[in-house]
Amino acid sequence: MIDKTFDHPRREPVKPVVPVDIPKMETAFSALGLSDALAYGVQQMGYLEPTPIQKQAIPQVLARRDVIGSAQTGTGKTAAFALPIIQLLNTHAELRCLILEPTRELALQVEEAFQKFAKFTDLRVTIVYGGVGYGKQTEDLKRGMDILAATPGRLLDHLEQRNCSLEKIDILVLDEVDRMLDMGFLPDVKRIVAKCPKERQTLFFTATLPAELEQLASWALRDPIKVEIGRNRSPAETIAHGFYPVVAQQKFDLLQLLLEQTDFKSVLIFCRTRMGADRIAERLQRKGHTVGVMHSDRNQRERIEALDGFKSGRYEVLVATDIAARGLDIAGVSHVINYDVPENAEDYVHRIGRTGRAQNTGDAFTLVTEEDVRDARSIERYMGVTVERKKIEGFPYIYSALFDEKALAEVAAAAVKPVSRLHRGARR
Ligand code: ADP
Ligand code: MG
Repeated sequence: MIDKTFDHPRREPVKPVVPVDIPKMETAFSALGLSDALAYGVQQMGYLEPTPIQKQAIPQVLARRDVIGSAQTGTGKTAAFALPIIQLLNTHAELRCLILEPTRELALQVEEAFQKFAKFTDLRVTIVYGGVGYGKQTEDLKRGMDILAATPGRLLDHLEQRNCSLEKIDILVLDEVDRMLDMGFLPDVKRIVAKCPKERQTLFFTATLPAELEQLASWALRDPIKVEIGRNRSPAETIAHGFYPVVAQQKFDLLQLLLEQTDFKSVLIFCRTRMGADRIAERLQRKGHTVGVMHSDRNQRERIEALDGFKSGRYEVLVATDIAARGLDIAGVSHVINYDVPENAEDYVHRIGRTGRAQNTGDAFTLVTEEDVRDARSIERYMGVTVERKKIEGFPYIYSALFDEKALAEVAAAAVKPVSRLHRGARR
């Protein structure tokens, strides 16, 4: 087993660089076993209390257990592994911690979180992801680091080119594992895991626990402890949701009215397809809204620009496909609008998880056409709640039977399911 303190005998001990005098901390974070420097760091970031997943996972990670941590989106899973990892790594040496992320955006977010948490240490954090040149990443890797955040494909490229090595990996984190599997990364992930030493600590973090994940876990983890918070199916309680029945040809008009009537700071609109997202963005722009667009057809530069523009308030609206739905942390999204009902009930929870992050409140509006009635019902079944059907006063509804539950049931029964299934392949 690897030395608990990471005090590798071959290494010169390095003094941690602590730029400020860290006060003696007696907070809920230090009570979990975190050092004064880390407890101070999170306090500086405005965290008052650890979230439930943090409370349960941090001591286990510190005790060097393999962990499967599952908790709904937006509950602070990043800090649940990042804080204890920083404490375990302690001081700058060599690449000992690898974090795999399913998308570039998530990799960037996790790297940023690590940079912030590790501010009062001399640990180095680096990131590699696809869609951009190799030059800078190769330089970064060659310079050396303790922690590497990566997307699977690009990491494999760098490994092939011998730009870095996983030989000394002591902590391997698979973050957003369910998403990783959804996106077909299983073969890449397995190749990467196989390149890490057998003697290591492995952590899985995920919003849901599909059967496929359990299989991967039994192969990659050793005697893992499962930390499962709440029901994965329910979105945060701070979110108010509503279903807005409307016929397809009136969807855009209703969206317009919703935007007009709502006092929003920032609104994230989800569409089912990339083309749909582009179209809605263009129409909203013509109506005078500032709009960013995010989907998988846009290149890395465009995606970063859209996300940054949205975060900084330059865009009041961000239109996205489900690629942006999971795990992406955008602070202060006041409203999520599902222009299209997601096909998978689980995606609904992920989409609206973009609002009401941490302790903030948020609103989630979902436009439901007659063809979506079934998907809407399955969302309710999945969450185990009934979502209120809402009607907007003054909107010239052309089909009022939408508000008649009985009529709706008939329409739903007649709806041709295979047609909407055609969209599945085009979604991401
Ligand atoms: P998840 O990975 O579970 O979806 P994140 O780790 O991205 O969630 O965290 C969601 C948001 O909550 C982030 O903005 C993060 O800074 C914030 N956050 C995490 N832990 C806390 C805490 N203990 N107190 C306040 N905010 C927190
Ligand atoms: Mg996360």
